Amino acid sequence: MKQFRTDLHIHTVLSPCGDLEMSPSNIVSIARNRGLDIIGITDHNSTKQCELVWKLGRSSGLTVIPGCEMTSREEVHCLGLFEDFDAMRMFQSFLDQHLIVIPNKPLLFGYQLVVDEDENIMEEVVNYLGASLDVSIEEIEQKVHELSGIFIPAHIDRPRNSLFSQLGFFPPELKVDALQISKNTDEAAIRKEFRISEEITVVKFSDAHFPDDLGKIFTIFEMESPSFGEIRKALHGVDGRKILIPSPSP
Ligand SMILES: [Zn+2]
Ligand SMILES: [Zn+2]
Repeated sequence: MKQFRTDLHIHTVLSPCGDLEMSPSNIVSIARNRGLDIIGITDHNSTKQCELVWKLGRSSGLTVIPGCEMTSREEVHCLGLFEDFDAMRMFQSFLDQHLIVIPNKPLLFGYQLVVDEDENIMEEVVNYLGASLDVSIEEIEQKVHELSGIFIPAHIDRPRNSLFSQLGFFPPELKVDALQISKNTDEAAIRKEFRISEEITVVKFSDAHFPDDLGKIFTIFEMESPSFGEIRKALHGVDGRKILIPSPSP
Protein backbone atom coordinates (compact mmCIF):
# COMPACT_ATOMS: atom_id res chain seq x y z
CA MET A 1 0.00 0.00 0.00
CA LYS A 2 1.25 3.49 -0.83
CA GLN A 3 0.31 6.96 0.39
CA PHE A 4 -0.96 9.58 -2.03
CA ARG A 5 -1.38 13.28 -1.19
CA THR A 6 -4.80 14.05 -2.58
CA ASP A 7 -6.80 17.26 -3.06
CA LEU A 8 -10.06 16.70 -4.92
CA HIS A 9 -11.53 20.22 -4.68
CA ILE A 10 -9.73 22.77 -6.86
CA HIS A 11 -11.12 25.62 -8.98
CA THR A 12 -9.67 26.95 -12.23
CA VAL A 13 -9.98 30.23 -14.08
CA LEU A 14 -13.32 28.88 -15.35
CA SER A 15 -14.98 29.48 -11.97
CA PRO A 16 -16.14 33.10 -11.69
CA CYS A 17 -14.44 33.30 -8.29
CA GLY A 18 -11.30 31.45 -9.49
CA ASP A 19 -8.16 33.58 -9.80
CA LEU A 20 -6.94 34.31 -13.33
CA GLU A 21 -3.65 32.64 -12.34
CA MET A 22 -5.47 29.30 -11.91
CA SER A 23 -4.78 28.14 -15.45
CA PRO A 24 -4.42 24.41 -16.19
CA SER A 25 -0.66 24.74 -16.76
CA ASN A 26 -0.14 26.67 -13.52
CA ILE A 27 -2.29 24.31 -11.46
CA VAL A 28 -0.37 21.25 -12.66
CA SER A 29 3.06 22.76 -12.08
CA ILE A 30 2.16 24.15 -8.64
CA ALA A 31 0.51 20.88 -7.57
CA ARG A 32 3.65 18.97 -8.61
CA ASN A 33 5.99 21.42 -6.90
CA ARG A 34 4.03 21.20 -3.66
CA GLY A 35 4.05 17.42 -3.61
CA LEU A 36 0.46 16.56 -4.50
CA ASP A 37 -0.07 13.18 -6.22
CA ILE A 38 -3.78 13.36 -7.11
CA ILE A 39 -5.95 16.41 -7.77
CA GLY A 40 -9.60 16.86 -8.65
CA ILE A 41 -10.77 19.73 -10.85
CA THR A 42 -14.11 20.99 -9.56
CA ASP A 43 -15.26 24.25 -11.10
CA HIS A 44 -18.70 25.58 -10.25
CA ASN A 45 -21.36 23.84 -12.37
CA SER A 46 -19.01 23.09 -15.28
CA THR A 47 -16.49 20.42 -16.29
CA LYS A 48 -15.13 22.28 -19.30
CA GLN A 49 -11.59 22.73 -18.05
CA CYS A 50 -11.02 19.18 -16.77
CA GLU A 51 -9.79 17.51 -19.92
CA LEU A 52 -6.83 19.84 -20.43
CA VAL A 53 -5.74 19.61 -16.78
CA TRP A 54 -5.94 15.82 -17.07
CA LYS A 55 -3.81 15.86 -20.23
CA LEU A 56 -1.17 18.16 -18.70
CA GLY A 57 -1.21 16.11 -15.50
CA ARG A 58 -0.62 12.89 -17.38
CA SER A 59 2.53 14.20 -19.02
CA SER A 60 3.94 15.34 -15.68
CA GLY A 61 3.05 12.37 -13.50
CA LEU A 62 0.10 13.95 -11.70
CA THR A 63 -3.20 12.08 -11.53
CA VAL A 64 -6.13 14.37 -12.36
CA ILE A 65 -9.73 13.39 -11.63
CA PRO A 66 -12.38 15.21 -13.69
CA GLY A 67 -15.15 16.67 -11.57
CA CYS A 68 -17.43 19.54 -10.70
CA GLU A 69 -18.77 21.49 -7.71
CA MET A 70 -22.52 21.65 -8.17
CA THR A 71 -24.95 24.07 -6.51
CA SER A 72 -28.26 22.37 -5.77
CA ARG A 73 -31.66 24.05 -5.80
CA GLU A 74 -31.28 24.44 -2.02
CA GLU A 75 -27.92 26.19 -2.66
CA VAL A 76 -25.89 23.34 -1.20
CA HIS A 77 -22.44 22.87 -2.75
CA CYS A 78 -21.45 19.30 -3.52
CA LEU A 79 -18.65 17.60 -5.44
CA GLY A 80 -19.06 15.06 -8.24
CA LEU A 81 -15.98 13.17 -9.49
CA PHE A 82 -15.92 10.96 -12.56
CA GLU A 83 -13.92 7.99 -13.76
CA ASP A 84 -13.65 8.96 -17.42
CA PHE A 85 -14.57 11.60 -19.97
CA ASP A 86 -17.67 9.72 -21.15
CA ALA A 87 -19.24 9.99 -17.70
CA MET A 88 -18.01 13.57 -17.35
CA ARG A 89 -19.57 14.58 -20.68
CA MET A 90 -22.88 12.98 -19.77
CA PHE A 91 -22.78 14.93 -16.55
CA GLN A 92 -22.00 18.13 -18.47
CA SER A 93 -25.24 17.59 -20.46
CA PHE A 94 -27.09 17.30 -17.15
CA LEU A 95 -25.51 20.60 -16.02
CA ASP A 96 -26.41 22.30 -19.32
CA GLN A 97 -29.97 21.10 -18.93
CA HIS A 98 -30.38 22.21 -15.31
CA LEU A 99 -28.30 25.36 -14.73
CA ILE A 100 -30.63 28.30 -14.09
CA VAL A 101 -29.83 30.81 -16.82
CA ILE A 102 -28.45 34.11 -15.54
CA PRO A 103 -26.07 36.00 -17.85
CA ASN A 104 -22.64 36.40 -16.25
CA LYS A 105 -21.47 39.90 -15.40
CA PRO A 106 -17.69 39.48 -15.51
CA LEU A 107 -16.89 42.76 -13.78
CA LEU A 108 -19.20 41.86 -10.91
CA PHE A 109 -18.90 38.06 -10.60
CA GLY A 110 -15.56 37.44 -12.35
CA TYR A 111 -14.44 36.02 -15.67
CA GLN A 112 -15.37 32.45 -16.66
CA LEU A 113 -12.67 31.36 -19.06
CA VAL A 114 -11.74 28.14 -20.78
CA VAL A 115 -8.07 28.48 -21.70
CA ASP A 116 -5.60 26.31 -23.58
CA GLU A 117 -2.24 25.15 -22.28
CA ASP A 118 -0.58 28.43 -23.33
CA GLU A 119 -3.31 30.39 -21.56
CA ASN A 120 -4.99 31.60 -24.74
CA ILE A 121 -8.72 32.14 -24.17
CA MET A 122 -10.68 29.46 -26.04
CA GLU A 123 -14.14 30.29 -24.68
CA GLU A 124 -15.81 32.72 -22.31
CA VAL A 125 -18.82 31.02 -20.70
CA VAL A 126 -21.78 33.41 -20.86
CA ASN A 127 -24.17 31.88 -18.32
CA TYR A 128 -23.24 32.61 -14.70
CA LEU A 129 -21.76 29.42 -13.24
CA GLY A 130 -22.37 30.56 -9.67
CA ALA A 131 -26.11 30.14 -10.20
CA SER A 132 -27.98 27.10 -8.88
CA LEU A 133 -29.15 24.05 -10.74
CA ASP A 134 -32.93 23.62 -10.73
CA VAL A 135 -32.65 20.17 -9.10
CA SER A 136 -32.43 18.99 -5.50
CA ILE A 137 -29.31 17.65 -3.83
CA GLU A 138 -30.87 14.15 -3.90
CA GLU A 139 -31.41 14.36 -7.67
CA ILE A 140 -27.80 15.48 -8.17
CA GLU A 141 -26.53 12.64 -6.00
CA GLN A 142 -28.58 10.13 -7.97
CA LYS A 143 -27.24 11.43 -11.29
CA VAL A 144 -23.62 11.29 -10.09
CA HIS A 145 -24.09 7.71 -8.87
CA GLU A 146 -25.97 6.67 -12.02
CA LEU A 147 -22.78 7.68 -13.88
CA SER A 148 -20.69 5.64 -11.37
CA GLY A 149 -19.20 8.83 -9.96
CA ILE A 150 -18.18 9.83 -6.43
CA PHE A 151 -20.44 12.22 -4.52
CA ILE A 152 -19.12 14.38 -1.65
CA PRO A 153 -21.04 17.28 -0.06
CA ALA A 154 -18.55 20.19 0.10
CA HIS A 155 -17.32 22.20 3.13
CA ILE A 156 -20.18 20.95 5.32
CA ASP A 157 -19.11 23.13 8.27
CA ARG A 158 -19.37 26.44 6.40
CA PRO A 159 -22.09 28.93 7.40
CA ARG A 160 -23.15 29.30 3.73
CA ASN A 161 -23.79 26.87 0.88
CA SER A 162 -23.32 23.77 3.01
CA LEU A 163 -25.48 20.75 3.73
CA PHE A 164 -26.02 21.86 7.30
CA SER A 165 -26.42 25.61 6.69
CA GLN A 166 -29.01 25.09 3.95
CA LEU A 167 -30.88 21.98 5.11
CA GLY A 168 -30.02 21.88 8.80
CA PHE A 169 -29.82 18.09 8.77
CA PHE A 170 -28.38 15.12 6.93
CA PRO A 171 -31.08 13.80 4.56
CA PRO A 172 -31.40 10.09 5.39
CA GLU A 173 -31.80 9.09 1.74
CA LEU A 174 -28.63 10.85 0.62
CA LYS A 175 -25.84 8.40 -0.30
CA VAL A 176 -22.54 10.15 0.21
CA ASP A 177 -19.09 8.70 -0.52
CA ALA A 178 -17.56 11.10 2.01
CA LEU A 179 -18.09 14.55 3.53
CA GLN A 180 -15.61 17.40 3.03
CA ILE A 181 -14.73 19.68 5.91
CA SER A 182 -12.76 22.92 5.79
CA LYS A 183 -9.10 23.46 6.55
CA ASN A 184 -9.29 24.58 10.19
CA THR A 185 -12.18 22.38 11.24
CA ASP A 186 -11.61 19.63 13.78
CA GLU A 187 -12.94 16.30 12.56
CA ALA A 188 -14.00 14.99 15.98
CA ALA A 189 -15.83 18.24 16.83
CA ILE A 190 -17.72 18.30 13.54
CA ARG A 191 -18.69 14.63 13.86
CA LYS A 192 -20.13 15.38 17.26
CA GLU A 193 -21.88 18.61 16.27
CA PHE A 194 -23.60 17.16 13.22
CA ARG A 195 -23.93 13.58 14.50
CA ILE A 196 -21.96 12.09 11.63
CA SER A 197 -21.71 8.32 11.86
CA GLU A 198 -18.23 6.77 12.10
CA GLU A 199 -19.09 4.81 8.96
CA ILE A 200 -18.93 7.98 6.89
CA THR A 201 -15.47 9.14 5.85
CA VAL A 202 -14.54 12.77 6.37
CA VAL A 203 -11.92 14.40 4.10
CA LYS A 204 -10.16 17.76 3.92
CA PHE A 205 -9.49 19.41 0.58
CA SER A 206 -8.24 22.91 -0.22
CA ASP A 207 -11.17 24.36 -2.22
CA ALA A 208 -8.34 26.40 -3.77
CA HIS A 209 -9.34 29.42 -5.83
CA PHE A 210 -5.85 30.98 -5.73
CA PRO A 211 -2.39 29.48 -6.41
CA ASP A 212 -1.33 30.16 -2.79
CA ASP A 213 -3.97 27.78 -1.44
CA LEU A 214 -2.88 24.83 -3.57
CA GLY A 215 -1.10 22.10 -1.63
CA LYS A 216 -1.68 23.72 1.78
CA ILE A 217 -4.32 21.23 2.74
CA PHE A 218 -4.82 17.71 1.48
CA THR A 219 -5.86 14.25 2.59
CA ILE A 220 -3.63 11.18 2.43
CA PHE A 221 -5.17 8.25 0.59
CA GLU A 222 -3.49 4.96 1.50
CA MET A 223 -4.12 2.56 -1.39
CA GLU A 224 -2.49 0.48 -4.12
CA SER A 225 -2.42 2.98 -6.99
CA PRO A 226 -3.74 6.43 -7.90
CA SER A 227 -6.79 5.15 -9.79
CA PHE A 228 -10.45 6.11 -9.54
CA GLY A 229 -11.42 2.65 -8.31
CA GLU A 230 -8.80 2.78 -5.58
CA ILE A 231 -9.97 6.27 -4.54
CA ARG A 232 -13.50 4.93 -4.13
CA LYS A 233 -12.22 1.94 -2.13
CA ALA A 234 -10.18 4.24 0.13
CA LEU A 235 -13.19 6.49 0.79
CA HIS A 236 -15.17 3.43 1.84
CA GLY A 237 -12.31 1.77 3.75
CA VAL A 238 -12.44 -1.35 1.57
CA ASP A 239 -9.68 -4.03 1.56
CA GLY A 240 -7.37 -2.16 3.94
CA ARG A 241 -7.41 1.11 1.99
CA LYS A 242 -7.75 4.14 4.21
CA ILE A 243 -7.88 7.89 4.60
CA LEU A 244 -5.62 9.95 6.85
CA ILE A 245 -6.10 13.63 7.56
CA PRO A 246 -2.71 15.19 8.40
CA SER A 247 -2.62 17.37 11.53
CA PRO A 248 -2.56 21.05 10.63
CA SER A 249 0.92 22.52 10.63
CA PRO A 250 1.54 24.98 13.49
ZN1 LIG B 1 -18.27 25.68 -2.44
ZN1 LIG C 1 -15.27 25.12 -4.18
